[in-house]
Amino acid sequence: MSAGEILSGVAGDGHRRPNPFAGGGLDRATHLRADPRWLSDRLSDPASRVVPVWRERSLVSQAARDVATTADGSSYEPVLLPPAVAASASEPPEDWIFLGLDGGQDGGRALFAADMSGDAGEAREAKEESPPDSPLDGAGEFLDLRGVGAMLGQRDGSLLAYARAIVTWSRRHRFCGTCGCPTRPEQGGHVRRCADETCGVDHFPRTDPAIIVLVTDGDRCLLGRKDIWPEGVYSTLAGFVEPGESLSEAVVREVREESGIEVGSVRYRSSQPWPFPASLMLGFRAERVGGELNVAREELVDARWFDRVDFARRREIGLRLPGRVSISRRLIEDWLTG
Ligand SMILES: [Zn+2]
Repeated sequence: MSAGEILSGVAGDGHRRPNPFAGGGLDRATHLRADPRWLSDRLSDPASRVVPVWRERSLVSQAARDVATTADGSSYEPVLLPPAVAASASEPPEDWIFLGLDGGQDGGRALFAADMSGDAGEAREAKEESPPDSPLDGAGEFLDLRGVGAMLGQRDGSLLAYARAIVTWSRRHRFCGTCGCPTRPEQGGHVRRCADETCGVDHFPRTDPAIIVLVTDGDRCLLGRKDIWPEGVYSTLAGFVEPGESLSEAVVREVREESGIEVGSVRYRSSQPWPFPASLMLGFRAERVGGELNVAREELVDARWFDRVDFARRREIGLRLPGRVSISRRLIEDWLTG
C-alpha cells in the first residue's frame, strides 16, 4: 500500500488521496485536553514543539533537498519551535493551544499553536504584500498558506492549516458574544469560557461549511470567474451553507443563484479544510437538469460551459485552472480523468 493510499484511509473520504490541508494523520489526543497538569508539564517540556502563527501567517523555511519531506515534491517545511524559543516571542504559554501528539515513541511530542501577533495582529495584515518586521527573525519566513500550501507535504500542510484556523478563532473570541466579558482558554485552548460567573458560556471553535461544486452536462462542465482572480482563471461554483439548509439544498441554490442552471444528482466527492479563516469546503459533483446560463453579475463576471476539447487546448484559448492547493482543481481534474 502506498503512502497516498494510507493517507486516503486517514482522510476517510474514500478517494485516492486527501486534499491539501487534510490527511495529516495527527493524533489530536482529545482526552489530554482535560488534563491541566499534563498540559502544564508539556508546556515546559523541551521536547514539545510550538507552531507559531503571526498575523494569520505560518512560519516556514525552504526544505533541504536531501530531507525526506521533499520526496513528495514539497519544497517548504514548517518551522517548529522549542517552548523556550516560542515563549520569547509569543503570548504566555498558558494561552497556547494544544494541537496533539505527532506520533512516534510514547505517542510522540506534544504540539502546541501559539499566536505571535501581539496587539497589532489584525486579520487584514495577512493580505499585505510586504509585512512589517516579524518576530523570530532568521528562524524562517511567515508566509500565507494560500500561497505556500501547494509546496508543503501532506502532514505539514495539514498541521499548519489546523494551527492557523484555531489560533485565528481563539484570537477573534477573546470576548464573550453573549455578554461581552473577556473569555479564557479551557480544554487546552479548544474552548473559550466566559469569565463572568453569571454567564460562563463556553465558546467552541467555529467551522463554516461551504459547498463547492462541479456542474456537468454530458461532456461539458460549468466554470465561473470572479473579477479578482488572475486573468483567464475559471473555477467551480461555491458558496456558504446557510442556517436551516442541507448540503444538497445549498448546492442547488448556489448553482441556481450564480448561473441560472438547475441541477440534480448531487454527489459528494471529498472535503478540504480551508482555514481562511474557518471554512470547510465540501466538494460535490452535480448534473444539469434544466435552466439556461444567466450569470449573476454581482457574484461572477462570467460563467461558461467548457468541454474536454477546450481543456485539451486551454493554452490556446487562454483558459487557466485554479491552483493545485484548492479542491476546485481536484474536482475538475477528477472529472477530466474520468
Ligand atoms: Zn459571557
